[in-house]
Amino acid sequence: MKKIAVLTSGGDAPGMNAAIRSVVRKSIFEGFEVYGVFQGYQGLINDNIKQLELGDVGDIIQRGGTKLYSARCPEFKTPEVRQKGIENLKKRGIDSLVVIGGDGSYRGAQRLNEEGINTIGVPGTIDNDINGTDYTIGFDTALNTIIDAVDRIRDTATSHERTFIIEVMGRDAGDLALWAGVAGGAETILIPESKTDIKAVAERIEAGMSRGKKHSIIIVAEGVMSAAECGDELRKYINVDTRESVLGHMQRGGKPTGSDRVLASRLGAYAVDLLKDNISGYAVGLEKNEMSKTSFDEVFQKEHVINEKLYQLSKELSI
Ligand code: ATP
Repeated sequence: MKKIAVLTSGGDAPGMNAAIRSVVRKSIFEGFEVYGVFQGYQGLINDNIKQLELGDVGDIIQRGGTKLYSARCPEFKTPEVRQKGIENLKKRGIDSLVVIGGDGSYRGAQRLNEEGINTIGVPGTIDNDINGTDYTIGFDTALNTIIDAVDRIRDTATSHERTFIIEVMGRDAGDLALWAGVAGGAETILIPESKTDIKAVAERIEAGMSRGKKHSIIIVAEGVMSAAECGDELRKYINVDTRESVLGHMQRGGKPTGSDRVLASRLGAYAVDLLKDNISGYAVGLEKNEMSKTSFDEVFQKEHVINEKLYQLSKELSI
């Protein structure tokens, strides 16, 4: 009988639980045994592995975080350490693994696949920065969390006639900042993929003030600079009273949106479909609303790029 394991790794993302549930239920539906590896690659090394039944994934589809816990495990980059994890799977007769996580987790998954465990990656990260899928699990939920915060801050910005700078997650990827900026009607969006010209931002705020505009919202991705730095930089050019909000980890939590739950359910089941057909070494994704698979090699070949058309639109709508 085929035996499949599933783990979550890297930063947690809302919808990971829905993906775990899908992998477990689809595996059992297909007549396979399914195992949960707790605490990501750390748990794989530490042999923290348990067989899961249908009921083990009941009542989790609506919950944020991950029931299997997640961990960062730098030592997993070492082949001898990975070997220990592989042995822990093999001694149970497990030959297949579904890794739910971001691109760092995919690197570990790629190595495992080369070293004898049939592995499939499922994109679970709020950053939306993984090639081979239009959306990652957790992005939509985090986006909506940010939009809710921006709407609330906008009420105060309007009442007190101030410029607010809102710092959102995104060290290397500006998708959250861009989408939240468009959806929240921000005047300025600063993303790592584009060169930041603070002088131009200051001039635009000043031009707005001189035509009677009293408040402004700037969304800055953490990878560009902090909200506090952004305020300091602006004041080098204009006399502006700013307030800063750092949204922080609240962006990672909360119950997943319908979109994330459906995406996670589709991707988790598709990962099992591939393993059933003895296909591995791929990351699954959603492209043009169809399930797709991209080899790990191809996922890593290109840098993540921002949606240029949306970025251009954001500028056109915030004149
Ligand atoms: P997020 O994008 O949410 O941060 P991530 O999956 O990219 O998620 P990382 O911390 O980069 O998060 O990676 C998760 C884990 O994957 C690491 O702690 C490590 O165990 C494993 N990993 C990362 N890079 C490699 C690599 N080159 N080889 C083997 N394992 C790796």
